[in-house]
Amino acid sequence: MVTDAHKVAQPLEVRHFIGGEFVDSLDGKTFDSLTPIDNSVVAHVAEGSAADADRAVAAAKGAFDRWSTMSPAARKKILHAVADGLEARLEEIAAWETRDMGKPLADSRTKDVPRAAYNFRFFADYADLAGLHAYDKPWEGSFGYELREPIGVAAAISPWNFPLMLLTWKVAPALAFGCTVVAKPAEQSPVTASLLAEVCRDAGMPDGVFNVVQGFGPDAAGEALTRNPDVAAVTFTGESATGKAIMGAAAGTLKKLSFELGGKSPAVVCADADLDAAVDGALLGVFLNQGEVCLAGTRIIVQRPVYDEFCARMVDRLAQWKVGNPFDDGVRVGPLVSQEHLDKVLGYIELAEEEGAKRLIGGSRLTDGDLALGNYLEPTIFADTHNGMRVCREEIFGPVATVMPFDEIDDAITMANDSPYGLAGMVWTQNLNTAHRLARSIKTGNVWVNCFFVRDLRLPFGGYKESGVGREGGEYSYEFFTESKAVVMKLS
Ligand code: NDP
Repeated sequence: MVTDAHKVAQPLEVRHFIGGEFVDSLDGKTFDSLTPIDNSVVAHVAEGSAADADRAVAAAKGAFDRWSTMSPAARKKILHAVADGLEARLEEIAAWETRDMGKPLADSRTKDVPRAAYNFRFFADYADLAGLHAYDKPWEGSFGYELREPIGVAAAISPWNFPLMLLTWKVAPALAFGCTVVAKPAEQSPVTASLLAEVCRDAGMPDGVFNVVQGFGPDAAGEALTRNPDVAAVTFTGESATGKAIMGAAAGTLKKLSFELGGKSPAVVCADADLDAAVDGALLGVFLNQGEVCLAGTRIIVQRPVYDEFCARMVDRLAQWKVGNPFDDGVRVGPLVSQEHLDKVLGYIELAEEEGAKRLIGGSRLTDGDLALGNYLEPTIFADTHNGMRVCREEIFGPVATVMPFDEIDDAITMANDSPYGLAGMVWTQNLNTAHRLARSIKTGNVWVNCFFVRDLRLPFGGYKESGVGREGGEYSYEFFTESKAVVMKLS
C-alpha cells in the first residue's frame, strides 16, 4: 500500500527542553527540518546557541544533587516509567523517526523504539544491582572499599542515523547511574529527542534531570556543551573528524570522553560458509537503514572459490529489496537523510567507477513519480575492488557495498585490518577454528560470527583506531558515568 503518512498538516513546533519546560531559543532563532521522503518541511525547530546550551547545563547542574542522591531503586522506578511511556507512544514515535530520517517504518516500529525502551529497562535494573569492590586487610588492621559517585552533568551528542536508539544508549545509563544530562540530537533528526523529553516529564522525572538543546554542532549549541566547565563528561557518537574537534574543545576543561565514531567494516566470507546465510547477512550488514550504519559491513571480502557465486547471489537477492517511501509496506530501503548526503554518496559511486570498480547492480537515483521529490538511491554493489581504492577506505555511509576476493585466511586478515577504522568485523564460516582465529585477529571493537548487529548491552561496545575512544555498555557505562573512590579505613 502506498501511503502519504509522512505528510503533516502543519509543521511540528520543536523547542528545547530545559529545566522541565519546553522553551524557545533565547534569540528566538529556528530552522526548518525537512523529511527526506519528499523534502517538505515537517518541523520548525529551535536553533540553540551557546547561551541556550549554557542554561541547559545550569538546569542539569541544579538538578544534580537531588537526582544523584536518590536511591537507585527510586531512579529505577522512574526509568521504567520512561520505558513504559515510550512503549505506550510507540506508533507516534516510530512514525516521527521515519519521517525525520527516512528509515523504513517497520524498522522504527519493531527495532528502534522497542530497543530505546529496553535501553531504559536494562540500565535501570543494572544500576540497581551494580556492585562495588571491597578488600579486607589491604594492609594489616585495615579495610578498603570502593565508592562510585555519579560524575555530574553529562552531555550526550548524537547522530541522525538511529536518532532515538543511539541517544538512549547514552541517556539511559547516564541517568541510571545518577548523572543529569543535556542531550544535543543531530539537526537532521530533532523530533524524537523532544518526544523523549515529554515521556521523561510524564514519567515523573524531576525538572532539570534530562534536558534537550536542539540545533547545530560547530560554533553552536553542540560545541558549547563540549566547552562548558560544568559538563563533566561528553558521550558522543558521530564522525571521526567531529570526535577530533570535540576532543580539542574538551581539552580545556579536561572532560571525560567516550566516542563512538565512523567505520569501514569488513565482512569476511570463507569458502566453507553457509552461503545463503552469508549472502543474506552481508546484504543486511551493508544495506540496513539505507547503509547509514556506522557498523555497516561495507568491505565484503570473499574467498576466491565462492567469489563469483557469492556476487551472483547477492545481486539476485538485492534485486528483490524494495526501495521507496519508508511508510509503505514491504519497503526495505528508504531515502537518504538529506539531499546533501545523497550527493555525497552519488559522488562516491562516480569515484568507484573512475577507480575501476565493476558495478554489479544499482547506483542510480530513483526518480519515478513521487520518488523524484525525495533522496532515493538504488542500493549498489561494486565488485573487483581493493583496499587501495578510496571507496574501500573512506566511510560512504550510504547503500554502497564493495566486494573483493581473497585466497588464504592470512590474506583476509591483512585485508580486513588494512583500514584506518576498527569498529566491527563480520565472519561467515562453518569452521570453528577459522571462526576463533578471525575473531581474535580482526582488530575491531566488535566481531560477529555468522550474525550481524546483535548488541548485548552487557558486552563492551566501541571501536579500535579511528572508530572510537572508550567503551559503553553494562559495566563500561558504569565506569564512564561514575567516579570511583578508594576508601581505606584503619580498624583498631
Ligand atoms: P556528525 O559527527 O556530523 O554529527 C554528530 C553529532 O555531533 C550531531 O549532533 C552534530 O550536530 C554534532 N556536532 C557536529 N560538530 C560538532 C562539534 N564541533 N561540537 C559538538 N557537536 C558537534 O555525524 P553524523 O550526524 O553525520 O552521523 C554520521 C556519523 O556517525 C558517521 O560517521 C557514523 O559512522 C557515525 N556513527 C557512529 C556510530 C558508532 O557507534 N560508532 C553509530 C552511528 C553513527 P549537527 O550535525 O546537528 O551540526
